[in-house]
Amino acid sequence: MDKCIKSGDMSRDDIVYLLNLDNDSDVARLLKAGDEVRKANCGDAVQIRALIEFSNICARQCNYCGLRSPNSKVTRYRMPPDEIVELAVYLNGKGLKTVVMQSGEDPYYTGEIIADIVRRIKASTDTAITLCVGERPYEDYKLWKEAGADRYLLRHEAANRDLFKHLHPDCDFDNRIRCLHWLRELGYQVGAGCMVGSPGQTIEHLADDIEFLRDFQPDMAGIGPFIPHPDTPYANESTGMVQMTLKMVALARIVTRDALLPATTAIGSIEEMGREMALEAGADVVMPNYTPLKYRENYEIYPNKRCITEDPEQCHSCMRLRIQAIGRTVSTDQGHSRKSFQAAL
Ligand code: SAM
Ligand code: SF4
Repeated sequence: MDKCIKSGDMSRDDIVYLLNLDNDSDVARLLKAGDEVRKANCGDAVQIRALIEFSNICARQCNYCGLRSPNSKVTRYRMPPDEIVELAVYLNGKGLKTVVMQSGEDPYYTGEIIADIVRRIKASTDTAITLCVGERPYEDYKLWKEAGADRYLLRHEAANRDLFKHLHPDCDFDNRIRCLHWLRELGYQVGAGCMVGSPGQTIEHLADDIEFLRDFQPDMAGIGPFIPHPDTPYANESTGMVQMTLKMVALARIVTRDALLPATTAIGSIEEMGREMALEAGADVVMPNYTPLKYRENYEIYPNKRCITEDPEQCHSCMRLRIQAIGRTVSTDQGHSRKSFQAAL
């Protein structure tokens, strides 16, 4: 194990072997290795990204997600563009220099509307903008990059074609992967990632995900547990396991070396100290929720989401204290990709 961890050069057999570890001391060694690779390649600073969930309207039917279009129980909302811009500018004034603008696949926000929001935020702040609005045409991605967007999160969700199809009745695997390649070509810092424990997923599927991250080398990768939502076809499925999620975070760290890896809200939602545990297994980013409270409870992708009613100011100081309590520091910069930074040298 030690040799492939040191180099990050893991074969599929290594990955499957490590994913299958279940003895507590072996698992602890793997998680510690993830933490050591993080420390050597990324340092101790934890990046804070402010999440703005600006619309819960979605045209898709992903089987796992509470926002899927057939779910008529959701109270749907859209934040007006002015409100999104004002919030990003306010957050910049508070020292939050990186925002993630996330939504369902909502056709109301045309390419031009999103480009205008990005331009306006960029015109009055030095905020780094991450978009996370799903699969869109190449022209939209290009327009947003030209408007000043820095990053794009589009989890690959499942690197195995059959599992992808099973999870997404109305999505095309080839298009998902094509979008990731377009985004990279256009110069975005690109985020991939997947859920752990989704219905039908096996160890072999998880190994496919780690191999995908190893080969694609995303700038960022979000890995969190699947959490069943009662108003979806997966209502009666089991929640992803904390330990397997942590093993996936450690392996993602080991194969990507310096990618930005969030300690996800999902792991913090199923385990009180889940985010701290992920930060100690290789993660180096947290994404506190800054969606205005009046909208927040309606962005229910899964139930019992963490920090749904807390005042953003409280979340901010709670997050800082939690990071400092595990001996890490808080980064106040724009948190750009280390991969692009190196590429630019
Ligand atoms: N609509 C965009 C997309 O799908 O890329 C962005 C928003 S979507 C809500 C963000 C992420 O939430 C997805 O990539 C998915 O992995 C995650 N997610 C959705 N439902 C989930 C669930 N039930 N449990 C855990 N994660 C979930
Ligand atoms: Fe829509 Fe994203 Fe949820 Fe799929 S995961 S239903 S695209 S919000």
